[in-house]
Amino acid sequence: LVSRMRSFGTTIFAEMSALAVRTGAINLGQGFPDTDGPAAMLDHAVHAIRSGANQYPPGPGVTELRQAVSEHREEHYGLSYDPDGEILVTVGATEAIAAAILALCEPGDEVIAFEPYYDSYAASIALAQARLVGVTLRPDGGRFAFDPGELRAAITPRTRVILVNSPHNPTGTVFTREELTLVAELCREHDLIAVTDEVYEHLTFDGVEHVPLATLPGMRERTVMISSAGKTFSVTGWKTGWICAPAPLVGAVQTVKQFLTFTASAPWQAAVAYGLRHEREWVAALRASLQDKRDRLMEGLAAAGFEVFRPAGTYFVQTDIRPLGFDDGVALTRRLPELAGVVAIPTQVFYEHAERGRPFVRFAFCKKDEVIDEAVTRLKRLS
Ligand code: PMP
Ligand code: GLN
Repeated sequence: LVSRMRSFGTTIFAEMSALAVRTGAINLGQGFPDTDGPAAMLDHAVHAIRSGANQYPPGPGVTELRQAVSEHREEHYGLSYDPDGEILVTVGATEAIAAAILALCEPGDEVIAFEPYYDSYAASIALAQARLVGVTLRPDGGRFAFDPGELRAAITPRTRVILVNSPHNPTGTVFTREELTLVAELCREHDLIAVTDEVYEHLTFDGVEHVPLATLPGMRERTVMISSAGKTFSVTGWKTGWICAPAPLVGAVQTVKQFLTFTASAPWQAAVAYGLRHEREWVAALRASLQDKRDRLMEGLAAAGFEVFRPAGTYFVQTDIRPLGFDDGVALTRRLPELAGVVAIPTQVFYEHAERGRPFVRFAFCKKDEVIDEAVTRLKRLS
């Protein structure tokens, strides 16, 4: 293994899901729902296979999906992207992120990402031989937020890209228009490209609105907007994502993408197009149900003795374990199956400045109510 990848080992999600299987613990670690996506959308995938959508689709993606993504961006955000040239279908958001970083960063370029960050960012940046510069989100009035001065100070002449994930995994923060306005100003001032990871765009709560960075003045032209079907439709195993950006940026990403995977799997694409067009009500019901599950898990974790941060989006709750007398999330999550029969994710592994994430542990709530309740009952053994 090349030296720049040696520190990555096995992802925390694979490690913790294996731990759950080995110990029989309840898995509130890796974020995947335990119920299926909309039935009619699933039927469309089966139908696609039965009707011969089994050979290579076009490199940029099936036309129907590119059109559906284009209509969806227009309807939800008033953003217009040409399905021919400004939209590229990818193997999940993960490939989109990797291909974007590999296409846009020279060795030595700096990429700013808010930490804690989704783990594939650091690996993609390392593959590109670029450098991740972490700007820390810290608890501030009950939510995780960045310090504007720190963000400003992180920019150097080598900064090329800023990666913005909102709604944010793992903290549950949804960046406000004001926060995004500062990001946009800095992008324009320093001629940066924004890569936005918006996979949780529809999973926001309490009426909080997701604002795509590309909708801010001067940003559409310099933003690679990424999303995927996995979270919106509870089909994380379908690995179907997309990029929306101006043609030169999509062209750059596509040049890389065609040699990573050439094209994404065919059968899911027509089904996701159907979902984007016809399953709005299903998604609204998912959002409402997740908000209830969030409240259920938050209440339970608080009763079990955790300090709990209220997420405005995603399906994760961030906790601080210090009120329970622990101070190291990595050590606690390794022992949690034995102590309480539950698996969670140590947030510390998502930081450049690891010590800043030491007391935080993430729990997923995209699970059946009875699973959440049983996990809470078990976690109460900790105090
Ligand atoms: N970004 C974030 C913030 C995520 O939480 C996930 C889901 N694991 C991804 C990207 C990857 O999405 P996909 O499964 O579509 O590759
Ligand atoms: N996005 C999910 C999470 O954060 C799962 C990611 C993965 O398994 N790679 O838990």
